[in-house]
Amino acid sequence: MQKRILIVEDEPAIRDMVAFALRKGEYEPSHAGDAREAQASIADRVPDLILLDWMLPGTSGLELARRWRKDPLTREVPIIMLTARGEENDRVGGLEAGVDDYVVKPFSARELLARIRAVLRRSREDDEDGSVGAGGLRIDGAAHRVFARVDGDDQPIQIGPTEYRLLHFFMTHPERVYSRSQLLDHVWGGSVYVEERTVDVHIRRLRKTLEPYALDGMIQTVRGSGYRFSAAMDA
Ligand code: CA
Repeated sequence: MQKRILIVEDEPAIRDMVAFALRKGEYEPSHAGDAREAQASIADRVPDLILLDWMLPGTSGLELARRWRKDPLTREVPIIMLTARGEENDRVGGLEAGVDDYVVKPFSARELLARIRAVLRRSREDDEDGSVGAGGLRIDGAAHRVFARVDGDDQPIQIGPTEYRLLHFFMTHPERVYSRSQLLDHVWGGSVYVEERTVDVHIRRLRKTLEPYALDGMIQTVRGSGYRFSAAMDA
């Protein structure tokens, strides 16, 4: 079955170009020109991936990304942000909002399709992965969910898709130190052009996610080297 991709973009020329590229890539595109239309489209049918323009009339793409990350319906739908060149500095803000990747305008159809494939592949690999547990944390790979043990009960944790992949990688490779570039390779995939500080952004988000359960100490900074997951938390 063809993957359905929602394009949220107010400029008709870019929207048409992207839709054309998607059809060529054997995806099924749908359009929305603003937040309201996007919301209606998602309510109608949740897409497999969202291409989200940063600059939209009314609610910005960034604000929409934040909203969708909080909504159980869209929490795990990968988002690729479309940005203009001058907006590159805002990337960190987007990553903090839970965006999976960026494509900078003007982009080629080939580049766009490569990013989409990489993001969809990562989310599929997650689905195929099994479950893993360590300390008070448990990942249900099939359900794509993370649970924390609180007073003998497993409580579901709200987690972003990148933080999920990062946590899954850590939990399946515990007690080992990984540099930022190794984490980029393993968690983001070698083909994606992301900076090393991206890793720090998502580490910060992951710790914040685990903090309410007092499990953030499992994600340890190793000075000068990188990061390590340890179920034996630092005191
Ligand atoms: Ca725009």
